[in-house]
Amino acid sequence: MHSNQEKNKNRVALITGSTSGIGRAIAEQLSDDGFTIAFHSKSSVTEGERLVSLHQNSTYTQADLSDQNQVKHLMSDVLSQHGRLDVLVNNAGINAVIPHDSLKEASVEIWRNLYEVNVIAPWILISEAENALRESSTQDCPSSIINISSHAGVRPKGASIPYAATKSALNHVTKLLALSLSPDIRVNAIAPGLVDTPMTETWAEAHKLWKEKSPMGRGAKPGEIAHIASMLVSSSYLTGEIILSDGGLNLT
Ligand code: NAD
Repeated sequence: MHSNQEKNKNRVALITGSTSGIGRAIAEQLSDDGFTIAFHSKSSVTEGERLVSLHQNSTYTQADLSDQNQVKHLMSDVLSQHGRLDVLVNNAGINAVIPHDSLKEASVEIWRNLYEVNVIAPWILISEAENALRESSTQDCPSSIINISSHAGVRPKGASIPYAATKSALNHVTKLLALSLSPDIRVNAIAPGLVDTPMTETWAEAHKLWKEKSPMGRGAKPGEIAHIASMLVSSSYLTGEIILSDGGLNLT
């Protein structure tokens, strides 16, 4: 057993939206790092059960994070099944593709839906997890929260202005909570550029942009974002950082 696996043997990580894309890659990486995984998704129960059968002691909870009661149920279910929580990854998120100059297409309903899932749900999960994260924290191994935001929350870019605004809000919440929850709980964000996942399958223009303009010449694979999550979790010191992970596109 590697030293990280030994260190994490009894530690538990909840990753929201972990039956596909970036979330599944993070869950699989943290499982390789020795964590027991709490899987979650909105609707992919069959995939959730398949993942549970492949990962020892793992669990799966279905919850629609646009519904506050289901958000609370998710955390209480995870805590009652595992009895502790060491890492929370707020990965689940939704997008809306709207040209930035089509202001009326960005309806109030779209703004509210995006805000509910991308900002308020992570907030509720963090507040429901705070006590458990503090209890499991030690000086050598402080508990850790990772919020998956977006490069669109750092730069004036992205699939739509409402999406970019929610991710920017999540980045700011990350920094504010890093101050409020220290030193027991470290809070960081990963702000990916284009990543090859179901969300971006049909985004031909974005794929072209990354291929032609980004220094790395391509979008990221989910496993490459998961690798950054693993680095953040294994740190005992980093907090309040927004790790921009766009293959260098922001430099161009
Ligand atoms: P994905 O569509 O594969 O995953 C999204 C996950 O969110 C799914 O597992 C889904 O179950 C969950 N989800 C969506 N709505 C939900 C709801 N109402 N309740 C509960 N769960 C819900 O996409 P992905 O690309 O892996 O996205 C993961 C995260 O990464 C998102 O927050 C996204 O905004 C962010 N992100 C993605 C990219 C990219 O290029 N793929 C870039 C930057 C940021």
